[in-house]
This record gives sequence, structure tokens and C-alpha cells, in this order.
Amino acid sequence: MLALQGGAREHLRALESAGATPVEVKKPAQLAGVDALVLPGGESTTIGKLLDRFELLEPLKERANDGMPLYGTCAGLILMANQIVGGQDAPHRLGVMDVGVRRNAYGRQVDSFESELEVKGLEASFTAVFIRAPVIERVGDGVEVLATCDEVPVLVRQGRLMASSFHPEMTGDARLHEVFVEIVRKTK
Ligand code: GLN
Repeated sequence: MLALQGGAREHLRALESAGATPVEVKKPAQLAGVDALVLPGGESTTIGKLLDRFELLEPLKERANDGMPLYGTCAGLILMANQIVGGQDAPHRLGVMDVGVRRNAYGRQVDSFESELEVKGLEASFTAVFIRAPVIERVGDGVEVLATCDEVPVLVRQGRLMASSFHPEMTGDARLHEVFVEIVRKTK
């Protein structure tokens, strides 16, 4: 669990209940010790700067390109995207996933909202919490859309990379963390 900024605690709890043994990653040596990484929500410009400053950005790019599974949520999705649409860029990105995202694009009056999503592979719907969320405007050919909200993709997967524009960790429902842990198990 990347723990430079943003909410790690709920993710750690969800990962534990999904059967993983999560640890916080703040330093390159800790990154070297994990099989996979969750990138939390928060502020993508800040997290990107901290990744750079703590010398995690390049090692993380290398690990990701070597096949390490990643799950990015909200700001984490922005950091994983290979394209930012619109004026609000997020420098210091990983750019490992073939999606185009627009930051803070759900509009001011609906800065935060919840939605019940039908997710491919899950039997019952999933309550998604959107907080100043990015909009996924483009998905590449190799990217599978696992859930949409008003016909816009909000949960996507590209092989061992998973990303959502919403926060999956805030409702005590660990099913998406379970999906990710399963991806990690199969990658090992
Ligand atoms: N608005 C934030 C950004 O652009 C993302 C918000 C979040 O992670 N909840 O980085």
C-alpha cells in the first residue's frame, strides 16, 4: 500500500480482509519487498511529487513495466494513466495504463457522490464513492471496462493493472480488493 499521502488505513483493512498481508510503502526498500501495490486516492499532483522526492517514481515505473500488479484508485488512477486530457496535468506520473483521464471532471456540484454499480464478475452491486473524481475519457484496445456509471467507464483493467475513478475502500466492502488480490495471486 503506497502511503505517502491519502487514505491508506481503509485500504489496509480491506486488503487484510481480502486475505493479503498489506504493508505501507514509503521508501524504495519497502517497494522492493512487495508483490503488488495499491495507489490510493488523495491529490495526484502531491502524491506524484512525493513519489519523485522519495525516489520511488523510477523504481515503481520499472516494477510496473516488469509486471508488478497495481490497483490505482482515484488519484491513483490519474498516476497510472498514460494520458491526461484537459489543462490540469499531473506531472510525475507512472503512465503505465492505456487510458485518458480528465481530473476533477465530475463537476463542482457533484464533487462527491455515491453510486450503485454493476461490476463484471460480481454478483451483487457495489457501492462506489466518488470524491472529486477523474473521468475516464478514453480506454485503449487492451483495456477492459469492468463497470460504468452513466455509461462512462469507472472501473478498468489492463491485464494485471486495475484502476477505478471511485474509492472502493470506504464502505467496508472488500470485494474489489479481493479481485485485485486474485490478480496478484495469479501473477505470482
Ligand atoms: N481530485 C484529485 C486529483 O485530481 C483526486 C481525488 C481523489 O483521489 N479522491 O488528484
